[in-house]
Amino acid sequence: MRDLSTIEEVILSVLRAQVAPAGSRLICRELADEGFDTSESTVNRLLTGLDSRGFTESLGRKGRILTGEGRRVSDVLQLDRHRSAYFERALQMHSIEDLIDHLIARRGIEREAARAAALRATPEEIVLLGELAEPSGPALHDRLGFHRAVGDASHNKQIQAIANTLFVERLDPLESVTLTVGLRQGVLSEWENDHRVIAARIAERDADGAEQTMFAHLDATIRETEAFARSGWGDVLLQQLRKDADRSSAPLLPPT
Ligand SMILES: [Zn+2]
Repeated sequence: MRDLSTIEEVILSVLRAQVAPAGSRLICRELADEGFDTSESTVNRLLTGLDSRGFTESLGRKGRILTGEGRRVSDVLQLDRHRSAYFERALQMHSIEDLIDHLIARRGIEREAARAAALRATPEEIVLLGELAEPSGPALHDRLGFHRAVGDASHNKQIQAIANTLFVERLDPLESVTLTVGLRQGVLSEWENDHRVIAARIAERDADGAEQTMFAHLDATIRETEAFARSGWGDVLLQQLRKDADRSSAPLLPPT
């Protein structure tokens, strides 16, 4: 299914939306509406390919319909599109409340990730977590890497899938926002120490301890972010969030 080209995917979705068989002329028109500049003969060639792969069926002059398999594939693609649009909206942060909501969601999922990691992490993952908990080089670099690694070590596919969307690369600017908060509130070394304790609990297979420490860690992040925003620096955080195209990892320090 993954080897379908974008235009083939759109053809399937055009056919999915039809109540009657569709000819190549109609498909061509629908494709043009979707921004594909393509000829009827190209569409015919693509349809023949889809026929031979069992996704569509020709009813002669009446046109084409989706096969059962074609419908199934098209349903999955549709679901994928909905899901990515949904996450896209969720990942756009427009306010401090959005950022706090994001951290609250992380608090919920990551406590379970830490618990599962204590029960399921491999010896190699435990070593890695210990290493990631010790910031090396410029201490500002890649703290989210630790959180990502806890999600991976959960070996729970559901948690991993959700964690993946919480830690997508384009959210990296959030890390620098969090760093700004940590630096300004003077709690950065406490947060670093939390990582060490979480790694240690996971290594000890202490599921309750790992879960509680992760919860407290993110809870503290939420409280400090709220306090920072209340102290009048909310605009600075917002500015920094909006710079999310800027890949700079340097924290923005507000003037004192
Ligand atoms: Zn952390």
